[in-house]
Amino acid sequence: MIERNSGLANLTAGYLFPEIARRRREYAASHPDAKIISLGIGNTTEPLSEHIAKAMADYAMGLATKEGYSGYGDEQGMTALREKIASVFYKNMADASEVFISDGAKCDIARIQTLFGAKTKIAVQDPAYPVYVDGSVVTGAAGAGKKDGSGYEGVTYLPCTPENHFFPDLSKIQPNTLIYFCSPNNPTGASATKEELTRLVDFANKNGCIIIYDAAYFAFIRDPALPKTIYEIPGARTCAIEVNSFSKPAGFTGVRLGWSIVPNDLKFADGTPVNKDWNRIMTTLFNGASNVAQAGGLAALDEKGLADMKASVDYYLENGRLIKETLEGENFKKNGVEVYFTGNGPYVWTKFPGKKSWDVFDTILDKCHVVTTPGSGFGPAGESFIRFSSFGHRADIEEACRRLAKLEL
Ligand SMILES: *Cc1c(COP(=O)(O)O)cnc(C)c1O
Repeated sequence: MIERNSGLANLTAGYLFPEIARRRREYAASHPDAKIISLGIGNTTEPLSEHIAKAMADYAMGLATKEGYSGYGDEQGMTALREKIASVFYKNMADASEVFISDGAKCDIARIQTLFGAKTKIAVQDPAYPVYVDGSVVTGAAGAGKKDGSGYEGVTYLPCTPENHFFPDLSKIQPNTLIYFCSPNNPTGASATKEELTRLVDFANKNGCIIIYDAAYFAFIRDPALPKTIYEIPGARTCAIEVNSFSKPAGFTGVRLGWSIVPNDLKFADGTPVNKDWNRIMTTLFNGASNVAQAGGLAALDEKGLADMKASVDYYLENGRLIKETLEGENFKKNGVEVYFTGNGPYVWTKFPGKKSWDVFDTILDKCHVVTTPGSGFGPAGESFIRFSSFGHRADIEEACRRLAKLEL
């Protein structure tokens, strides 16, 4: 018999979201009248922009004609889309040849793990989006789980808490480490400042580290002083890959379209450009993003598309403000609840001092019929926190807020 991939065997806990779904299902089965509202999963809820949807529909109809049909495209993506992303989002901080179109940021993160191989040390923010660590465990890069259940041996966990403004102590990172960094952050909602990112980039360049910068929420940044891409920081081109996505700004979570920037200046220890190997990975393991989705991406980047994306993000940010105001109510304040919402990300990260995340999750599900995400599912430093997501229809958000306002903890 074939041996099981030991990386998969090493994965400790189950994936967070299936466990949330299981508890929700069980609760719904025993409480059939409960009208459950989810402020849990970070999934978009609002319809696509008509302008963007029409571009995809037109492209799809074109495929049914002799003139409009095309089969496989370039694995790196349509030239027009690569150029548009470089000029609109990166304003000449990245060249079109450094933009690789993909089926999404999560998928790119998984492929990046094959780019670096099993011996690479990794560091992650704690709490963090699960794929950075779990994906590394699958490829073997994170080693086996620790016996005390406190994480994986090849992983340096970097606590990000209110005490350090959700920016980690970089001195814990060893030289030649792959650093996953997400800003605006999922789950904390925190956005790193220019000064913080400068420290991160300087540290990486000095210590031979490479940063995998997950900017999936860049479109939520409203404070003009906050960097929207790592390449706003001098020196980032020699130490950082940026992964990004249309999922959150354009509601493309189901359509599937993302991109990664791999600068020509980024090199491995032996001098090989990372860009060269990434090109090899994309041509070997990937066969190009859907051409229909790419037509939608192009439409998202014209004037109307950009305005529609901004309106969609504004809608979610307003939801976030409503949730924040509710959680700042007297019934929470008297229990010492701390609310972190920056207005530059979709998540309201909330601390319930002295309580376990899963207990608070169960209380809110039971008393308010609202599904949230327990912070501990994102890493040990997330214990006692709950992540409230602002993705939802306004009416549902308002109803969830009315119920939360009456919650007695
Ligand atoms: C939603 C999300 C993504 C986007 O993933 P896609 O595969 O592009 O849909 C990436 N990173 C983080 C942190 C996210 O929350």
